[in-house]
Amino acid sequence: MEQHVLGIDIGATNTRIAVVDSAGNILASEHLPSRMAEGRPFFQALADRAHDWAQRHHAKAVGVGTAGQIHRATGAYLPGLYPEAPWVGIPLRDILADTTGLPAFVDNDCKIHAYAELKIGAGRTYTDFISLTLGTGIGGGIIANGQLVHGAKGIAGHLGHISIEPEGPPCPCGNRGCLELYASGTAVANMASTQLGREISSPEVFRLAAAGDQGALAVIERMASALGRGLGALANIFNPQIFVLGGGIMQWYPLLEAATRRSFRASAMTELEDTPILVSPLEGRGGVIGAALYALDQLEQD
Ligand SMILES: [Zn+2]
Repeated sequence: MEQHVLGIDIGATNTRIAVVDSAGNILASEHLPSRMAEGRPFFQALADRAHDWAQRHHAKAVGVGTAGQIHRATGAYLPGLYPEAPWVGIPLRDILADTTGLPAFVDNDCKIHAYAELKIGAGRTYTDFISLTLGTGIGGGIIANGQLVHGAKGIAGHLGHISIEPEGPPCPCGNRGCLELYASGTAVANMASTQLGREISSPEVFRLAAAGDQGALAVIERMASALGRGLGALANIFNPQIFVLGGGIMQWYPLLEAATRRSFRASAMTELEDTPILVSPLEGRGGVIGAALYALDQLEQD
């Protein structure tokens, strides 16, 4: 029998709710503005909305991928990079389960994205790979032996916070020179703004680079070189079969590819230099589908 599950993707600016079937097809969905900064009222309103959707579509579980860190045992938000944030401590899983009356499963959005790659994306024929999501920041998920790696508290996979420049600028995580400070959309915008002496967005930098602007190309080269170094370090630790890169920036990957590969080969051990670096085929769908399939699989394991 076909089963319906709700998948919810809570991003920094947008939240998407979708009804997904067990094959990973989206049957219906809607977007809402993310208002995590409102704290509990936002999450309660989201749970009320999820309740309506679940009733209408006879969903049997709710899965959520969310920005921020989630404690695996309690399903509540951890302080993460923003200890004063209004969502810290909010028991998202309990709010959803209590409001919808359904089993609820919550995890970090980038880990959930890795799960989507495993089930229906670039990783579906692999058992060991690393998924990186490049957007405002950089998040990640590790798949080992066909399983999502959670770590002791559930926060494994923060791959944007490996240091690639020990003397680099401080990062909100407490480290210095994190990959995220060089290879995210925010980093591209910051590097280009400093270079040009005016505020410029990352899409604008990529468009300039695509048109052959030398200054923009230099910024992209620096970003790609940092990304390659980060991937090299990850290859040496995990020896993945593939890397899968996702997120908004990946539409520009042709501009990054050569420099990323070059820097990757220079950083990874000789045996690992040929590790394929693939672009996610999931575009914006990975969050809701991954969350729904994760919930379904967890339900079947319980
Ligand atoms: Zn950091």
